[in-house]
Amino acid sequence: MADPHVVVLGGGPAGMGAAYQLRRTGSASVTLFEQNEVVGGNAGSFEVDGVRVDFGSHRLHAACDPEILADIRTMLGDDFDFFERHGRIRLRGKWLHFPIKALDLMLHLDKGFALGAFRDMVRKALPGGPAEGDTFASVLRANLGPTICEHFYFPYARKMWGEEPERLSGIQAHKRVSAGTFQKLLKRLASPPGKGGYYYMRRGYGQITEAYAKEAERLGADVRLGWRVSGLRRPPEGGGRWAVDATRGDESRTVEADYVWSTIPVSIVARLIDPPPPTAVLEAAAQIEYRSMVLVYLTLDVDQFTTTDAHYFPEENVWLTRLSEPKNYFRSTEPRGRTVLCAEIPCSVEDDVWTMDDDALAALVTRDMETAGIPVPVPPSAVRSRRLRQAYPIYHMGYEVPLGVLDDWIGSVPGILSYGRQGLFAHDNTHHALFMAYSAVRCLNGSGSFDHERWAEYREVFKTHVVED
Ligand SMILES: Cc1cc2nc3c(=O)[nH]c(=O)nc-3n(C[C@H](O)[C@H](O)[C@H](O)COP(=O)(O)OP(=O)(O)OC[C@H]3O[C@@H](n4cnc5c(N)ncnc54)[C@H](O)[C@@H]3O)c2cc1C
Repeated sequence: MADPHVVVLGGGPAGMGAAYQLRRTGSASVTLFEQNEVVGGNAGSFEVDGVRVDFGSHRLHAACDPEILADIRTMLGDDFDFFERHGRIRLRGKWLHFPIKALDLMLHLDKGFALGAFRDMVRKALPGGPAEGDTFASVLRANLGPTICEHFYFPYARKMWGEEPERLSGIQAHKRVSAGTFQKLLKRLASPPGKGGYYYMRRGYGQITEAYAKEAERLGADVRLGWRVSGLRRPPEGGGRWAVDATRGDESRTVEADYVWSTIPVSIVARLIDPPPPTAVLEAAAQIEYRSMVLVYLTLDVDQFTTTDAHYFPEENVWLTRLSEPKNYFRSTEPRGRTVLCAEIPCSVEDDVWTMDDDALAALVTRDMETAGIPVPVPPSAVRSRRLRQAYPIYHMGYEVPLGVLDDWIGSVPGILSYGRQGLFAHDNTHHALFMAYSAVRCLNGSGSFDHERWAEYREVFKTHVVED
């Protein structure tokens, strides 16, 4: 098929990365539908009282694929730089530097905790420890011992995923806890300063996807913002093209496609496709669960709150998991006399916090900040909130079964590719989502056919991705 037409669903990094690469390589013509008025998805940015903010703390990690990093650097020029992290974690009433540093740990770690963790490490070095098992709890307990688990990872897991660690899959531990063994912890402690650094952008994290969108459009991609995909009609038996339906308010339109590349939740795709998939697939789609998140932005009329970029709260005495100060990520001093704080509250859409009004959310956040020993220096001059429905995939015990059903089904439908964080239900970083996009484009060969064997090889690489905070 010469010059195929690809309709990309979703304008986050995975969707925009593909639109750009498809046009840059001349592999296909592109239409992209994004339901929001701006690109970026969960990795987007917007402005609050003159300060660019993200959907929670976002940074580009140094593990980014070199080709992708070079592209981003070229697109962003002087708006792109590398910084050392200035984070801290609240643990048993004390602040510890994050990423962890050996001297800081020695000076500030709660002595009871330190002793317990040291005892666990010695025990772990002896033969005959517990088997890993297959739950989040058993994997981490076997590798890190009870002290770090009970005081750090388990309370964090309950807040983050709303589930007991015994009911979460061990895969969540392998994918999410990058310092999941004593060896890895010690390696981190020994790593030189700057190793834990990150890339950031002058106008917020969303500038990455915005740059991809601008370049993709310049190269001829048709990017439709504010259009929600509402139907995916499969080609008729015996050949033809896909028909992708999208709506914007009262308007609707249909675009024909040789390929549909979807980065929207795979569970939603199962409900949009016509003819519908077998009942077992729809049942599997209903079992896929995402953790949602409320983000609360407090405007403070001061130059800076602290020099810290992100404060982490693993313990259950506060609701927040993280509080970040977006101005600090690029070390910005502008605007003067004002900063914005962003508080992250993971939740379910059924929780009260999901529907709380901004005043109630501000009260919750300021109370938490006081409990954590970092009260607001002045009352907030404004409060805003945003909500992410699909913030994190929840890997319940046995989630691989319904996910496998969905994955096998979508893999069997010719002409559609599901990838990205939502498309593969992957707890990933932005550079992983971009890597998936670049990989997909490499699979579309000169004749316009899609190389499924090559894609299967890339899928094995995606499995090795470990998310970083
Ligand atoms: C709180 C938080 C902090 C994070 N921190 C980091 C970090 O520090 N570093 C990092 O690298 N990553 C971080 N991530 C992960 C990062 O946000 C994701 O890896 C990235 O957004 C994945 O991109 P994506 O394009 O695959 O998915 P998404 O960003 O989710 O994009 C999917 C897009 O599809 C659109 N869509 C959905 N349904 C439809 C429809 N029916 N029609 C049209 N459009 C639709 C959505 O609006 C969205 O724009 C963080 C994530 C969260 C939630």
